[in-house]
Amino acid sequence: MQINNVILPCQSSATDVDIWDIVITDGKVSQIRPSNNIAGEPPKLLLPALCHPHIHLDKPFILTSGRPSSNTQPDYSDLLPRTGSFEEALTNTSNAKERYTEDDLYLRGAQLLATSYEQGVTSLRAFVEIDHATGPLPLTIAIRLKSEFSHLLCVQICAFAQDPIFSTVHGEANRSIITSALGEYASSIQALGTTPYVEATREASLQNIEWAIATALQYDLHLDFHLDYNLALPSPSSPPLTFSVLELLKKHRWLDIAKASKTIVLGHCTQLTLLCDSDLQTLAKTVIQSGLPLHFVGLPNSDMFMMGRPSSAVEMIHSRPRGTLHVPSMIKDLGLSACIGVNNVGNAFTPFGSGDPLQAASWGVGIYQAGTVADAMMLYGCVSWLAKRAIGLEGSAEDNDVIEGKSLQGMLLIKNKEYIKMPSTSDRSELKILARKRMSIKDIVWDPPETTMRSIIE
Ligand SMILES: [Zn+2]
Repeated sequence: MQINNVILPCQSSATDVDIWDIVITDGKVSQIRPSNNIAGEPPKLLLPALCHPHIHLDKPFILTSGRPSSNTQPDYSDLLPRTGSFEEALTNTSNAKERYTEDDLYLRGAQLLATSYEQGVTSLRAFVEIDHATGPLPLTIAIRLKSEFSHLLCVQICAFAQDPIFSTVHGEANRSIITSALGEYASSIQALGTTPYVEATREASLQNIEWAIATALQYDLHLDFHLDYNLALPSPSSPPLTFSVLELLKKHRWLDIAKASKTIVLGHCTQLTLLCDSDLQTLAKTVIQSGLPLHFVGLPNSDMFMMGRPSSAVEMIHSRPRGTLHVPSMIKDLGLSACIGVNNVGNAFTPFGSGDPLQAASWGVGIYQAGTVADAMMLYGCVSWLAKRAIGLEGSAEDNDVIEGKSLQGMLLIKNKEYIKMPSTSDRSELKILARKRMSIKDIVWDPPETTMRSIIE
């Protein structure tokens, strides 16, 4: 196999060569040389694959599945958002969970994985909720999907408690179900996730965090919190729980026991955007000095839908905060590890979207006001190698290099069309428009389904 005339925007070492020819023998690069481009075709791009660091496998497309209800497919049509509030999303999702069936969970999960693969994703952390309403069913379906897609996608399962585990009448049952699942399905689960902010009290939230840390260490799992998902002004008596996570990780000696091999991811954390600069710098310094493999994941699709709403439906406020972590600044200005995830697709928390990570990265240019060429590279990294690093997969700059002896499996080959063709006003001719060529990272944006993006799988 030979790939001629290809640009490699993510090579870590700069050279004078812009375009390469790559020879692949027995699945590995046997030769890489400057291209002659004899054919004079527009170059292709070869890029690292995309990664979902945070996506929910059991609840995509609840509102946008586009298929009729039946004996095996539930009807969710009464659960469309009316106010769009956070409380409504939690309630509607709880109602939806009571209707889950095996066929429904399988279909929506398979649609998410298939769509993700088409969009250039080759690895993901799949959150799978298990609690008193669902029992272990979403997990057993996730394990089946993980196996059936294993030749295309690295699916990392995160056993996830969306509901309280230390408060409310179901807290104890929820905790018991997730604990038994961790034992019974240990070989299929790679991460433990909880949602401390849903607990009834701050004390219960802290219990939730401490239990999750101890349990992740016990079962040798990555740890992933949905955390500080609000825009309440932090106060000395009620600081963001991010600080408590850091203290409890130290108390439980995460670095000594899990070492660097198991990462900790904090998702949402929108409240941190309200910290003043000096508090943010103190937080960053604490994280960096701790040596903990801690990563923040911004989830702008959901955050911007949920956060910063007027306090009442009749209040008309046009000035609203973005309400999502400023991921590029966290990396550039604070020296933290951070990335971007899609989170939800077509459900009460995010009732829109296709789940495309590139679309989220492209929106990042506007959301974060990050428009330089260097910003484009960082935003791509946020849905590619930085996302992989967050969930404990490979992800150094050198991992992106195309060098002799290396397999290109999973990399994305992005071809350029010469023309866009469409019918003209005359019956017998066609309209030919010179296509916009994608020549660098900044040109890589979401494309329609007839995309020229292909993942190399052999
Ligand atoms: Zn989530």
